[in-house]
Amino acid sequence: MGEDGEMRVAIIPIGRVDSSILQGVRENIERIIPQTTCGVSDEGVEVPEGAYNPLRGQYRSSVLMARVLTQLGRLRLLGADRVLGITDVDIYTPGMNFIFGEAQCPGKAAIISLYRLRPEFYGAPPDRDLLVERAVKEAVHEIGHTLGLRHCSDPRCVMSFSLHIGMTDRKGPNFCSRCYGRIERAVRSSGRIRLFDGS
Ligand SMILES: [Zn+2]
Ligand SMILES: [Zn+2]
Repeated sequence: MGEDGEMRVAIIPIGRVDSSILQGVRENIERIIPQTTCGVSDEGVEVPEGAYNPLRGQYRSSVLMARVLTQLGRLRLLGADRVLGITDVDIYTPGMNFIFGEAQCPGKAAIISLYRLRPEFYGAPPDRDLLVERAVKEAVHEIGHTLGLRHCSDPRCVMSFSLHIGMTDRKGPNFCSRCYGRIERAVRSSGRIRLFDGS
């Protein structure tokens, strides 16, 4: 458990994920979310086989989320308040063609997928910086949900909803002033709320 008024986020790779991308996301989470430290767990988890839907050629997000949640006890021992799973496989939820990420709102866990953030998915040349920039926006967005924030109507705010990559590119990595105020209050109180039983 972090000190009062401080949040600690642990990033867990789900399956094989380029560590330079994980580090890029980690640094930016600390820069963008107030009073927050972030670390990359050296122990990742495998992509659960049961998540794969052969008819869609995609992985069901809720199964990956459940896998990440099994790591909460271990991460709690390391002092993490929140866990962010990052995967490179294409994820979906029933009723949607795909999703960039998912979060408990409010809650302790979130996941994002890099699959549709890669420029090459859209026929563009690979671009590591652009991939990190997009991943940071989706990561900050999902962590915002874990702190209880809903979608924001300001298209530049990181909490605005992305239905496609153009909307991800249009928004910035930062919170609008209203969402920032909410985030500050939520982070400040997250130490008192005691996210984990017995801590
Ligand atoms: Zn959202
Ligand atoms: Zn906002």
